[in-house]
Amino acid sequence: MSRAARLRDVQTKATTRLADQVRHLRERGVEPINLATARPDFDTPWAIKEATREAIAEPHTYVVYSESRGLIELREAIAAKLRYENGIEVDPGEQLLITAGTHEALSVALQALLDPGDEVVLVDPSWVAYQGMVRLAGGVPTFTTLRAGRLDEDDLRAAITPRTKAILVNNPNNPTGTVLTRQELEGLARVAQEHDLLVITDEIYEHFLYDGRQHVSLATLPGMAERTLTINGVSKAYAMTGWRVGYAAGPSWWIEAMLLVHQHFISAPCTFAQKGAVAAFTVAKDAYAEMVAAYTRRRAALAAGLTSLGLQVTPPEGACFYFPRFPGGLSSQELSDLFLERAGLMLTPGSAFGPSGEGHLRLSFASLPESQVPEVVRRMENVMDELAASRMEGKGKERA
Ligand code: PMP
Repeated sequence: MSRAARLRDVQTKATTRLADQVRHLRERGVEPINLATARPDFDTPWAIKEATREAIAEPHTYVVYSESRGLIELREAIAAKLRYENGIEVDPGEQLLITAGTHEALSVALQALLDPGDEVVLVDPSWVAYQGMVRLAGGVPTFTTLRAGRLDEDDLRAAITPRTKAILVNNPNNPTGTVLTRQELEGLARVAQEHDLLVITDEIYEHFLYDGRQHVSLATLPGMAERTLTINGVSKAYAMTGWRVGYAAGPSWWIEAMLLVHQHFISAPCTFAQKGAVAAFTVAKDAYAEMVAAYTRRRAALAAGLTSLGLQVTPPEGACFYFPRFPGGLSSQELSDLFLERAGLMLTPGSAFGPSGEGHLRLSFASLPESQVPEVVRRMENVMDELAASRMEGKGKERA
């Protein structure tokens, strides 16, 4: 009895591993502060809950399977959102697929695309799940490393090999918060067109932008609509992580191939959750503004706190993370274990996001109330003082 060989190189998601460690801590009566997950601490807007409640109350309509592609009313609402907010034109009949979260959209997109050994260029660092998804689809993740947080056209070009089939970008980026500028996207578009590559763009944090930044969707650049799959969902902007509703929009051949995989994987996403998502894109469509205002305050409070610890931090341009590098030569995993054990702080090891993340920790402020920032900084300071003291001791011993 043995499991599939293709699971060999797939690792447990760092955030899942951390959740297991926390379970052990809780058994000892310690309640940690969650700086690990990108789960908003806001409640789903009332109008969305209300629309869902009404949908459930209706007999036999929203409690039965939906079409595998998803409810047509949701696809139409998303097509309208893509047109007005992003400038992307899609036919809701054949160019949109509703999925069980952005997560499923990404997995199915890769399953529908890759043959064994096909390479997908990932941005290093970027979201922890991408590498596993590529491997499960039989592909091989390769990397283009951000230079001081920026996507470099020549570096990207150098990462392309004859086996490269696609590039996967996350804009805004989790964990660096990088918001790709139009110039960076134009560079990416040039490389994709030169090498005839497909691009998957995960835009789940599109609304979480700071200092007046604007989100530009790659699919709106000349010649890109036919080779770009835009992926997004309601989890972050509408505080709906548990509802599991996402979508993919792009070329009909790709969406049709994804539909084939998706219908065999999950058949269809939850129908009444889709009905809630219709409300998110219509009556509650601006509800994220309140969250972004709170995130803006948290971001500023943390900038001051982390700087006071001597960490070099640049406030993120978008999304909801800090990604500081820690001095002292401990690995990200060691640092993460240390902060959890000594200070009850859940921080994700940077190495999980790609090779260049080693030595970093990701600090998510998705569910960190501003009032808790001083406590987080105090606890971090204790651990960092301890680390500095043990370094001094080590140096003393070296000299002795
Ligand atoms: N993409 C990125 C970049 C994310 O950070 C996350 C959640 N942490 C997801 C996708 C997953 O989103 P969903 O809940 O829609 O599956």
